[in-house]
Amino acid sequence: MEECAYIGLGSNLGDRELNLLRAVAEMGKLPASKITALSPFYETDPVGGVAQPNFYNAVARLVTTLAPLELLEALKKIETAVFRRADSGKWGPRSMDLDILLYGDRVFEEARLTIPHPRLAERRFVLQPLADIAPSLRHPILGKTMAELLASLTSTEKVVRV
Ligand code: AMP
Repeated sequence: MEECAYIGLGSNLGDRELNLLRAVAEMGKLPASKITALSPFYETDPVGGVAQPNFYNAVARLVTTLAPLELLEALKKIETAVFRRADSGKWGPRSMDLDILLYGDRVFEEARLTIPHPRLAERRFVLQPLADIAPSLRHPILGKTMAELLASLTSTEKVVRV
C-alpha cells in the first residue's frame, strides 16, 4: 500500500547543498517511490555538544510502497554507498544523515527503527522544514500538528533559511 513518509535530511561535510540535492535524487530513484514535496534548505547549529561545522537540513515527502524497514535499509544504503559515510559516532559530522520522521500515521517501535522519530518534536531543524511542507499534519502520538509543535518549541538553536 502506498504511504506518505517524511524524511529528514542533514549534511555538514563537503558541499552541503549539493549533498542534499543528490540525496533527494537518490530517494526519487528508489523502487515504487516518488518525491512529492521538498522543503526549503536551512543552515542550522549542530546539537549534541560536539564542535563541528553547521548543518544544512531539509525535509522531503516520499510517497512509497516500501515497508518501514525496507525504507530504512534503502536510506542506509544511500548514506553508505552514495555518500560513503563512515561512522563518526552518534553526534559527529556526516556528509549525509537520512531519518524517517513519519510514515503515514504509523507508530512503529523496533530495535532498529522508531517511528515517529523520537526527537522530532524537540528539534527546530526538523520541525521548521516539516511545518513548511506539512503544517497541518498531525503527530500520531502527540496529537498536535507540525505547526503547533513548531510554535511550542522553546529551544533557541539557530535555523536560518538558505
Ligand atoms: P544516526 O544515523 O546516527 O542518526 O542513527 C542511525 C540509526 O538509528 C540507524 O542505524 C537506525 O537503525 C536507527 N533509527 C531508529 N529510528 C530511526 C528512524 N526513525 N530513522 C532513521 N534511523 C532510525
